[in-house]
Amino acid sequence: MMTDIIHLLPDSVANQIAAGEVVQRPASALKELLENTIDAGANDVIIIIREAGKSLIQVIDNGCGMSERDARMCFERHATSKIQKADDLLAIRTLGFRGEALASIASVAQVELKSKRHEDEIGTKIIVEGTEFKGQSPVSCQNGTSISVKNLFFNVPARRNFLKSNNVELKNIIEEFFRVALVNPAISFTLYNQERILFQTHAGNLKQRIINLYGPSYAQKLIPVEQQTELVNFSGYIGKPEFAKKSKGEQYFFTNGRFMRSPYLHHAIENAFQELITKDSFPSYFIFLEVDPKTIDVNIHPSKTEINFQDIRSIYTILNAAIKQSIGKFSLSPTIDFEVEQSMNITELPAGTTIKQPTITINPDYNPFEKTVKPQNQFSFPASRSSVQAMNDFYKDQSTIPHVDLPSTNTRLLDPEQAVEPPKYFQIKNSFLVTHSKRGVIIIDQQHAHERILYEQLIDRSVSRETSRQQLVIPVTIHLTPDDLHLLQAWKDHFSFLGFDISGFGKDSVLVTAIPPDIEPDDIEGLIESILESLKSTTQDNKSSRLQLLARSLAKKISVKRGKKLQPEEISSIIENLFACKVPEISPDGKLTMVILSFEELLQKFKH
Ligand code: ADP
Ligand code: MG
Repeated sequence: MMTDIIHLLPDSVANQIAAGEVVQRPASALKELLENTIDAGANDVIIIIREAGKSLIQVIDNGCGMSERDARMCFERHATSKIQKADDLLAIRTLGFRGEALASIASVAQVELKSKRHEDEIGTKIIVEGTEFKGQSPVSCQNGTSISVKNLFFNVPARRNFLKSNNVELKNIIEEFFRVALVNPAISFTLYNQERILFQTHAGNLKQRIINLYGPSYAQKLIPVEQQTELVNFSGYIGKPEFAKKSKGEQYFFTNGRFMRSPYLHHAIENAFQELITKDSFPSYFIFLEVDPKTIDVNIHPSKTEINFQDIRSIYTILNAAIKQSIGKFSLSPTIDFEVEQSMNITELPAGTTIKQPTITINPDYNPFEKTVKPQNQFSFPASRSSVQAMNDFYKDQSTIPHVDLPSTNTRLLDPEQAVEPPKYFQIKNSFLVTHSKRGVIIIDQQHAHERILYEQLIDRSVSRETSRQQLVIPVTIHLTPDDLHLLQAWKDHFSFLGFDISGFGKDSVLVTAIPPDIEPDDIEGLIESILESLKSTTQDNKSSRLQLLARSLAKKISVKRGKKLQPEEISSIIENLFACKVPEISPDGKLTMVILSFEELLQKFKH
């Protein structure tokens, strides 16, 4: 006998299944509750957490509140006040709209809701436990809504056991809280953990909110980002390169008020920061995107943070340029990437869309340390030009380095203002250069420093189209393997940007007629071969333009190495030119060029 075997799941089971997606942990329940307070128009939100949210997550808001009937309805699956018809999906401006969060939470916890609309005399209270309706009664309460989620997963022991330690779950809770607090600076939040205030933020602007959450030192660390195009508006802040962190973390994208993860756009920022920070550190950013909701996929899974954009490539290009522009304007100027990668082609805009390219004026000679002095067109050891002034200016700018309070008897000796005497430079171990400044003792790695100087000179001249070359009296024929020949052909233009003239590509040889100035012309074949060799191992790095890669490997080849004894004028040339660089602290490879031992640290060391 055949019987039908398909039947509808009871609501309680359906809700628990949905809860598996919506509520994985206390932090995800908190996220839903917080989003509801924002959708309800609240401007004051209190969060109370006990046992990392395992025993209690309570959220109290002063938003619109719910009527008696709405308070019952809100626990139904697909009960939402936010959309009514399919068309509404295209213009979603609220955070929630699926109407499943409260139904899911109530299916796996004991929930108590109190709510009162401003126009009502009295509020209403409802208790639901594991989808089971336990009762509703009038209650006198404040305007707005309070929802307590108690004993999450009380009826699903497997999931409760799966929760991590209180430490880990609390960290997740704080992270969710930050994501909401950062994007809603006009709302004041108070987060209690075990009866203690963990965070309290006041209504303000974004910068105040960041400082509120991360501490007052952030006041000096932030650079604003602002870019408006027809496709997308960007706003927010990035951390100055010198404050890049050794650990990931403060990296936030928000789109239309919603936290978003985007490895692709993250790369646009990383790329703008490259060479400004060491390889093992991470830039901070708080970037807000505003786009037409019609151009993103709104059917976002509640626990997913990825967003699909119609034209992510153009957004990438605009963001990358906006970040570079901000860094250049407010801090250190990066070298210019004038090769636009093919994949970032702006022409892929949907028909009918026009975007205003961000207007970026980058001055290739921009030098944050000195306004009047222009780099000289000489390699290696140009006569000293940047002077002590450049170095002193460099330190003057570091206003965040704590000022040393020296005992008064010492001030004459170490007073920064007295330190304008030309510093004495010397070399130790044929490798390191030592000097001092207003702030402390500076130890410079001669090789890394010289790489930085040469690199910037190469790029600067190439960008300003002032590349000079030394014509070879007798052109040199060099022999290469077919592979190398092929590679050189592909990089020919970039070699030329840097001052090489290479022609006469034959079967196994080329003719070199000019090389950059100040390169010893004795082993041109060896030089080109070794550059090609290093290009083979670095072409993978798609963060840099070809010009940057080539300049980097050329600078490495022709720089002075550790172990070389330098003449006094060579030492002063390196030190002074280094401080005139745009990014003096870091080699083109991202390694440190110098270590500064501040007087404060010295005093600290001599304390005991
Ligand atoms: P969604 O947010 O997707 O609509 P939820 O399950 O999160 O679904 O909420 C269901 C409904 O309950 C919301 O549409 C809203 O009308 C109401 N609601 C939930 N939380 C609040 C709140 N804090 N204040 C006012 N109304 C709320
Ligand atoms: Mg919701």
